[in-house]
Amino acid sequence: MNRITKLFILLVFQILLISLVNAKDYYEILGIDRSASKKQIRKAYKTLSRKYHPDKNPGDKKAEEKFIELAKAYEVLSDDEQRRIYDQYGEEGLKHGDQQFNDPFDIFRQFGFNTGGEPRHQERKGPEINIDLEVSLEDLYMGAYIDADVKKQVICSYCRGSGAASQDDVHICPSCNGSGKKMVRQMLGPGIFQQVQTVCDACGGKGKTIKKKCPHCHGERVQSGGEPISITIEKGMNDGHRIVFEREGDQHPEVTPGDLIFTIKTVPHPLFTRKGDNLYAKIAITLSDALLGFKKEIHHLDGHIVELERKGITPPGFVQEIYDEGMPLHEFPSEQGKLFIEYVVVFPTELSDEQREVIKNNFSKVDSGIKDEL
Ligand SMILES: [Zn+2]
Ligand SMILES: [Zn+2]
Repeated sequence: MNRITKLFILLVFQILLISLVNAKDYYEILGIDRSASKKQIRKAYKTLSRKYHPDKNPGDKKAEEKFIELAKAYEVLSDDEQRRIYDQYGEEGLKHGDQQFNDPFDIFRQFGFNTGGEPRHQERKGPEINIDLEVSLEDLYMGAYIDADVKKQVICSYCRGSGAASQDDVHICPSCNGSGKKMVRQMLGPGIFQQVQTVCDACGGKGKTIKKKCPHCHGERVQSGGEPISITIEKGMNDGHRIVFEREGDQHPEVTPGDLIFTIKTVPHPLFTRKGDNLYAKIAITLSDALLGFKKEIHHLDGHIVELERKGITPPGFVQEIYDEGMPLHEFPSEQGKLFIEYVVVFPTELSDEQREVIKNNFSKVDSGIKDEL
């Protein structure tokens, strides 16, 4: 063995030794000083845990180990009491109590990567809940608050989604070290092997095992529940408008809840029909109204009175256009569409001899005029 090889072996050995000695130093793992503030600890964990997350490093065992180490280090150093013990007695000191590390993925999640902030790579989102919301035309005209009770799946409040009877009943799966994944050697042919990543069969991919199940959710981690939701109906919202409550769908410990979406379905109104921002109404008038003119009042959707006035003759089917009495524009509620009134002339069902005589005497001229034109 020449000198250079010897030196090389020595160097490798030293590096190994150093990494062995320092393997468990939590400050080293997070790359921070022993005097690091809580904020610095958080920041270090935040950066590194995302870098080494197994999702970003599929099949990389080293990254996975690092990810688990980071979670352990963060868990200890972020807790004042545990940090004090660790500083004084090292890791041995922590082993005296019932030190049980949490699932590294839980810590990652508690950190809020799944909820808001920067979008996480490959975020798993649950399904949407779609609900048709029946809204009266009055509410769409004036705006309203509607309280709805939405039944949905929620995280079990007793075990907080762990599925275990107590925190002590949750253990990191020893088979996969909490990752929920395992590398398996598959034989492709004689002497040819391939490393394949599979779901850990010991924990079913959950990364943890539970000794005693939560008595409330029976280990399902979720229960049926829900809470009242207040929906704001804005003036002029259209039929089919979707009101989205982000992440208010079914809850599950491992996924970001999907959105809860209400779709407006307008309840038909006895008088008004809506088309876009305009309103349409049919108003019945008598034959004498149609011939002589009239004044009428109708109640609008908010109860205010709209006066309808016609002087002279109103033929059947005549449409009167009234500005600014339609629906408020959703984007500009101070502006309104038009109201179209179609007049339906209600003819008398019978006439007395006297009335017939009067009409005969008075309309014969008009009638003959029409006849000449035809
Ligand atoms: Zn496992
Ligand atoms: Zn439970």
